[in-house]
Amino acid sequence: MQENKLRKRILLVSPRGFCAGVSRAIQIVELVLAKYENENVYVLHEVVHNKHVVEELNRHGAIFVDSLDDIPDGAITVFSAHGVSKAVEQKAVRKNLRVYDATCPIVDKVHRKVRRISDKDEEIIMIGHAKHQEVEGTVGQYTSSVGAMHVVNDIEEIGRVHINNPEKLHFVTQTTLSVDEAQSCIDALRKTFPLISGPATNDICYATQNRQQAVKDVAHLADVVLVVGSKNSSNSNRLSEVARQSGCVSYLIDDYTDVKPEMIAGKEVIAITSGASAPEYLIEEIVKHLNVNDEYDIENIGVSKEKQNFRLPEGL
Ligand code: SF4
Repeated sequence: MQENKLRKRILLVSPRGFCAGVSRAIQIVELVLAKYENENVYVLHEVVHNKHVVEELNRHGAIFVDSLDDIPDGAITVFSAHGVSKAVEQKAVRKNLRVYDATCPIVDKVHRKVRRISDKDEEIIMIGHAKHQEVEGTVGQYTSSVGAMHVVNDIEEIGRVHINNPEKLHFVTQTTLSVDEAQSCIDALRKTFPLISGPATNDICYATQNRQQAVKDVAHLADVVLVVGSKNSSNSNRLSEVARQSGCVSYLIDDYTDVKPEMIAGKEVIAITSGASAPEYLIEEIVKHLNVNDEYDIENIGVSKEKQNFRLPEGL
């Protein structure tokens, strides 16, 4: 017992890693590759924001492009989990692309809401990061030429938005925001525009919320929180921020090669989690790398009660 007390600890945080939307999007690309093994399969944007996932699918034949202009007319095309705008959908039709849509159903639900409001020519404020693909796709669902859709990143930006009719105003949020920061923005929105309507809480998905809560629960037990995820992964970045806001040092790392000695020097308890687009084998590699001298006890902490599952598109 005495010996155990002196040993360092690695805490593997649950829930972590793949969400249902990411699993579905990856499966769609894999199934499309298998179905059309003699044709080129194009994927518009990174199907999920993880470089390892993208590299692996690329090795299996998926061709990732940033624009429909890079896809020949009539080709097999997969839209990424982040969703696309109406303009992209319409251009795909004009190019006769054979499209499989991997948009996460939770993102799609926000799209449908935006389209309903747009059809009534009412205004929307979206809380989110303007340059993120999900936000571009969601804003691109708004086609009213009478109303307007605005994107605000923080409370300061709310004060700069010009609204024509605050009585017919709605809000939506990006699905992968920090729950606490989104709540601050929503509070400010409700104060500035008392008649604004929106979801009871926000549009942040279950996976983002659960992973953030798990990090909050564990941050006070750890000396450092390593978050496995790519730099362009919104939900992974938010996990690292949540850990820091909870008072813990935190680093966002793509894989074990990003673990630098100074990150873990003197740290007795290392918590490890991963964003919704990071494969579990990356965690296993990190643990192996850290524990090469058998200095750590490995403990699972938290529980995953996630049962979410999404249906595949027709034809797969
Ligand atoms: S993080 Fe959330 S919104 Fe994004 S793919 Fe996963 S479940 Fe869907």
